[in-house]
Amino acid sequence: MQYFIDVILPIPLEKLFTYSITEAEADFIKPGTRVAVPFGKQKIYTALVHHIHQNEPTFYEAKEIHQILDENPIVTEQQLKFWSWISSYYMCTLGDVLRAALPSALLLESETIVTLNKDTEVDELSLKDDEFLVYEALTHQSSLKVQDISHILDKKNCLPTLKRLIEKEVITLDEELYEKYKPKQVRYIKLNEAYASDESLTTLLNTLNSRATKQRDILMNYFAMSAASKSPIKASDLVKKSNASSAQIKALIDKDILQDYVLNVDRVSFANDDIEASKELNTYQSDTLNNIIKTFENQNITLLKGVTSSGKTEIYVKLIEEVLSQNKQVLYLVPEIALTSQLVSRLKQYFGNQISVFHSRYSNNERVEVWQHVLNGSDKAKVILGARSSIFLPFSNLGLVIVDEEHEVSYKQFDPAPRYHARDAAIVLASHFGAKTLLGSATPSVESYYNATMSKKYGLAELNERYNNVLMPEIELVDIKDKYKRKRMKGHFSDRLIEEMTEALDNGFQVILFQNRRGFSPIIECNTCGHSPQCPNCDVSLTFHQYKNQLRCHYCGHHIAMQNACQACGSVELDSKGFGTEQIQEEVSNLFPEIKVSRMDLDTTRGKYSYEKIISAFENQEVDVLVGTQMLTKGLDFRNVKLVGIMNADNLLNFPDFRAHERSYQLMQQVSGRAGRTKERGKVLIQTYNPYHKILQQVSVNDYNGMFKEQMDERYNYKYPPIYKLIKITLQHRDYNKVNDGTEWLSKSLRQLFKQHVLGPEFPPISRIRNQYHKNILIKIPEQQSLGKTKEAILKIKNSFLSIKDFRPIKVVLNVDNY
Ligand code: ADP
Ligand code: ZN
Ligand code: ZN
Repeated sequence: MQYFIDVILPIPLEKLFTYSITEAEADFIKPGTRVAVPFGKQKIYTALVHHIHQNEPTFYEAKEIHQILDENPIVTEQQLKFWSWISSYYMCTLGDVLRAALPSALLLESETIVTLNKDTEVDELSLKDDEFLVYEALTHQSSLKVQDISHILDKKNCLPTLKRLIEKEVITLDEELYEKYKPKQVRYIKLNEAYASDESLTTLLNTLNSRATKQRDILMNYFAMSAASKSPIKASDLVKKSNASSAQIKALIDKDILQDYVLNVDRVSFANDDIEASKELNTYQSDTLNNIIKTFENQNITLLKGVTSSGKTEIYVKLIEEVLSQNKQVLYLVPEIALTSQLVSRLKQYFGNQISVFHSRYSNNERVEVWQHVLNGSDKAKVILGARSSIFLPFSNLGLVIVDEEHEVSYKQFDPAPRYHARDAAIVLASHFGAKTLLGSATPSVESYYNATMSKKYGLAELNERYNNVLMPEIELVDIKDKYKRKRMKGHFSDRLIEEMTEALDNGFQVILFQNRRGFSPIIECNTCGHSPQCPNCDVSLTFHQYKNQLRCHYCGHHIAMQNACQACGSVELDSKGFGTEQIQEEVSNLFPEIKVSRMDLDTTRGKYSYEKIISAFENQEVDVLVGTQMLTKGLDFRNVKLVGIMNADNLLNFPDFRAHERSYQLMQQVSGRAGRTKERGKVLIQTYNPYHKILQQVSVNDYNGMFKEQMDERYNYKYPPIYKLIKITLQHRDYNKVNDGTEWLSKSLRQLFKQHVLGPEFPPISRIRNQYHKNILIKIPEQQSLGKTKEAILKIKNSFLSIKDFRPIKVVLNVDNY
């Protein structure tokens, strides 16, 4: 009997690839096991076994695998099923999914960089011949790829050699990308069993009494520590506590008085000491909780629409407790984990070590650790708090998925493939387990609210009271066109904003100032009247394209020449530049020289803990004014903020996107929600050129339903989600003409099938990125049109496109639900 495996390679292949295995291997290998396989001329990849079978491939001879890398599968069959869904829904390969899903430490491959370990004095004589060859090569070249080493050794599989060299600490693999997983070990100390009885102990202390006072001292500290806590005593803690040296402790070990032992510990662990009971819900909250539970009787998905600071988190906590009591796992998704240090510590209080955080900024080792815990169903990973990629963890017994701030854009991955939306994928993941999903937001996305109210796909629960009956902040719109005219502006600050800031700061309150970094997008705005030229077909602002000196709509291609004067008021003061957070920060320092101001945006938050530092400095009131971008909107809970200022609402509203208005509403409501969360009612000032803009009016009176209704009308009229589905096709190539010709050809073929539902081709506002031209085609899919068939047709057309020699080098990017 001949046996074969089909594997997923971590590269974008359309199909699974087949290798031959022996009968013995077939007995051992299960789906989800990793194997090292040769591919192409000389590459070796870590591949994942998809299934085992006995059908020889028709078009090529199956090669043998090099090595089985796992004793037990590291990926579950459930995951493989979920990956298939991702790959077919989001139109990407399983290889793309594999790469996104597995921590890269689990994907050692031939592109891995090998370098000499500088900390090791190498004894050349201890090296075998092949090991020496690699060592010698590395003394001449500072780094080599695994495939280069294959060459040097003239061996296809050099991984065993490398493995030995790693164990001998001669080489290291590229730490950044491919640090291999190694459990972290900690040394502990305990008293020798022989001294367990009081009697023997007294004798011991007496002998030490006269001669070795330091050793006695160490022992006394050991007793004090073990009396204070039941947890094992770390050698390093004992050293510190008794102010001793390691040598002094070693002396006690040599005398067989103390013993040391080693345990694997997690890099990421939380103290279990101060677990608290969860909070008692007030009546509004417990009514809402009951509503959620009731909707779950008939619905798998429920939307919780709860105003900011209503205590949604406390409700989640109750649901989590319930699921944990059934011994099931919980996935708690948040849009940006780095911003949730506050949430992490809150949940740790309730769930202690049962919480694992999955974090893109965690090191590879830390991520592998969480992976293993989830895979083993360990108690340490009962609740996973994570950003979008945590949907890929190997859950075995998922009972509940919570998607907090479900409206957030960052749930969507734009690049690279898989271009998935974590909220939508999480719903599917939950359904594979028969688990429930709760979506939470104060400002639900239009599509989710539509699903909860109009199409009834989701249940709906609402919570409209803030906790402690704190009033929603008072929102005031400041007309800066008028302020400019009457010379009431200092820089970008209106007299009203300065007044309110002065009052808040004088009374010891803190202030948040919000400036969207999208302010730099090339949209033309009239400085006099605030008008911004719009597309007549799409209801979006036109974007300035410098190289053609045109204003263009990047959805439908409508364009006009760049204007010399404002179409509305005739003023020539047209401005295409926004202003950024840095400038605001500077202006604050000039207006209020005494106070401390800091800034939170992409530039100030690059380091691993930089968010935490800024957030805790603000929490501890070391900073009076915090200037920031949309990062500020994400669920932060500050006690002492009285005033929120939105520096310029217009550049949000004028963003060229069919969701610009919805997003503006969400952003402004969320930022406003940071004000006055405890005792005093907060205040929000919104500076704008268009105080009568519908969205601003709706924001100022918290009219979510008004916003929703109006947006839905537009989505019907202009055929956008949730009424129509969207798939965006982007062609990329360094040759401008190729991209042009390619998109022409492609859109023509698509149009034959989808008629007027094909928009474009159109260059995006930034049409060249890293020397690659991009051009888009947008396909709108009406509700009654089968999504599956549409995708099949698109793939077919894509394949004929790529079979044309001229077009073959063009990169075709498919983005399903590209918003
Ligand atoms: P949301 O997530 O809806 O914005 P939070 O869950 O952050 O609201 O709650 C806002 C604040 O109110 C938090 O500081 C929280 O600890 C507090 N809070 C909410 N519900 C309760 C409760 N039932 N008992 C005590 N404090 C609560
Ligand atoms: Zn004007
Ligand atoms: Zn248009």
